[in-house]
Amino acid sequence: MAYATYMYCWSCKHKFMRDEKITRQSECPKCMAPLRCCRQCRHFSPGSYNDCDESEADYSGENEAVNFCSYWQPANAPIPANAKLGRNSKDSAKKRWDDLFKN
Ligand SMILES: [Zn+2]
Repeated sequence: MAYATYMYCWSCKHKFMRDEKITRQSECPKCMAPLRCCRQCRHFSPGSYNDCDESEADYSGENEAVNFCSYWQPANAPIPANAKLGRNSKDSAKKRWDDLFKN
């Protein structure tokens, strides 16, 4: 399977050559942010349920901490620093609440 040679740190936006395998020990060479976290994952989807586009994925409760998610895939595009997280969004919370009572 092909992989991108470069990736962008979710935290400091540093562009760097990444290893083929990202492990739970991998971190940004510049700011030392952990790489195997939701924020660095291509499924990271601010505003979605659990901020993830994989509804089956386990939610660690922490977007910026190392996770054990089996859906984790490195994101190849830079992730906006100010991406709005669903859990912080009032609208999303209300939508989730409303969804609870649907059907
Ligand atoms: Zn960094």
